[in-house]
Amino acid sequence: MELIDTHVHLADDRFAPDFFEVLFRARAAGVVQLVCVGYDIGSSTEAISLAATYPNIHAAVGIHPNRASDAVPGAMSELDQLSQSNRVVAIGECGLDYYRSDASPAVQREAFIAQLRLADTRGLPVIVHSRDAMSETLELLEEFNPRRHGVLHCFDGTVADASRAVALGFWISAAGQVTYRRDRTLADALASVPADRLVIETDCPYLSPAGHRGERNEPSRVLLVANAVAKIRGCPVEELAAQTTANARRLFGLANPPILPNLEQRLSSETR
Ligand SMILES: [Zn+2]
Ligand SMILES: [Zn+2]
Repeated sequence: MELIDTHVHLADDRFAPDFFEVLFRARAAGVVQLVCVGYDIGSSTEAISLAATYPNIHAAVGIHPNRASDAVPGAMSELDQLSQSNRVVAIGECGLDYYRSDASPAVQREAFIAQLRLADTRGLPVIVHSRDAMSETLELLEEFNPRRHGVLHCFDGTVADASRAVALGFWISAAGQVTYRRDRTLADALASVPADRLVIETDCPYLSPAGHRGERNEPSRVLLVANAVAKIRGCPVEELAAQTTANARRLFGLANPPILPNLEQRLSSETR
């Protein structure tokens, strides 16, 4: 079974002590490719350097809505530079987060629109973070993302939200919430998404699935997300894995997974 974790923050310090073991466990769980996502200039730069080192790690560069006040013209031109790396497969994460109030809505909107324009210029998909702001997020995507190409990550909306996003041309990404939400809203929404529009992620080190709540999350646990989504959709997990992996490759334009000699060499030389 082959899985793609479409949203990881592997540059996070919490992975520093056992980075190779984390990658090894991911591979053992069936994870063949990962998209390492930036949330500011520093983490975007680190995502590119990881992607340059490991052929199965791909980079996304962006400024998170909670960091939107950092998206000053200087930072945006750095992001523009970073986005030209051939290891970059998406712009993001970017979007609107009205749950936290680290940046005002006006500042968040401006940073989001600037990144939607950058994605359009580069012909790249966008990785969209939207929290307590779904309707406005979809309005901005409609207006400022003429390619209609990207994914709503950590999707936590309703059937109506999902169908509106899919109608716009977007993909829906399921994360750990699906393993612990008690009410049916998210389950019903994920069950309603067309099979060719669904991808999966961990958002690690955040959002550890049920059974691991409060722990550092890691890419191997995307398998738990896959199991939960398969159950909701009433299909075998193998089928869900094959479909979401094909979808992730189409969404991000990924080539088929390189074999991982690079990782194996490192594992044997640096951890043994
Ligand atoms: Zn996010
Ligand atoms: Zn994230």
